[in-house]
Amino acid sequence: MNERFQSDMAGQDRFTGSFTQQEPIPEAGIEAALAVLRHGRLHRYNTAPGEVAETVLLEEEFAGYVGAAYCLGLASGGAAMACALRALQVQAGDPVLSNAFTLAPVPGAIASLGAKPVFVDVTEDLTIDLAHLEVQARASGAKVLLLSHMRGHICDMDALVSLCDRLGVRVIEDCAHTMGAKWKGVPSGRHGAVGCYSTQTYKHMNSGEGGFLVTDDAELAARAVLLSGSYMLYARHRAAPGRGVRGAEA
Ligand SMILES: *Cc1c(COP(=O)(O)O)cnc(C)c1O
Repeated sequence: MNERFQSDMAGQDRFTGSFTQQEPIPEAGIEAALAVLRHGRLHRYNTAPGEVAETVLLEEEFAGYVGAAYCLGLASGGAAMACALRALQVQAGDPVLSNAFTLAPVPGAIASLGAKPVFVDVTEDLTIDLAHLEVQARASGAKVLLLSHMRGHICDMDALVSLCDRLGVRVIEDCAHTMGAKWKGVPSGRHGAVGCYSTQTYKHMNSGEGGFLVTDDAELAARAVLLSGSYMLYARHRAAPGRGVRGAEA
């Protein structure tokens, strides 16, 4: 309990702090950052013999946290979403479904590929309207849904996944507002083909800028690593599939 919480009349803790004021970086985090600054090997591939880069260790830890087979660290949540769309082989001009209650970087990720956002209505509960999703999917022929769990509102994920399976639509989850949240015990980001997270300074985990992509699909993970700019150093990624995977050889 700290001064940002107060008990209300029912004895419940109420958050009374500022939603846009970051928590300070813990001392252990400051020490870890200083250790990296002191040795100077800031890039994920620039390591001493036998050393594993902090980025790689973070990817492994985050994969374990959400129970994903693979995790890739990226420059931002927006970069993670664009990388996920590319890994799913969305092409310029393709329609991509997305809930209309969202934030600019979500349709922005779609537009960054030259693809076209197809917006889906939201319900009174501020979650995606599944009936309208079906209408829009059939009308547009879109094969990918970029679903934003906006402001932490998660729809009935069982119903969404079974509808999308029936429609042949693959799901990318934007978990910028739901890192650590669960639907029926399953972490957000683990219902669709790919989960994307932001560690921008206002989000749950604060690295200034940054993002993650997680998936259990080896082929998608291999493509994402290459698309993120791994060039010939693919093997340095420990939360990525092995070299035999199609895509990792490219
Ligand atoms: C912040 C945010 C993003 C993008 O994350 P960045 O790391 O800033 O690119 C995507 N979706 C939502 C809902 C966000 O709030």
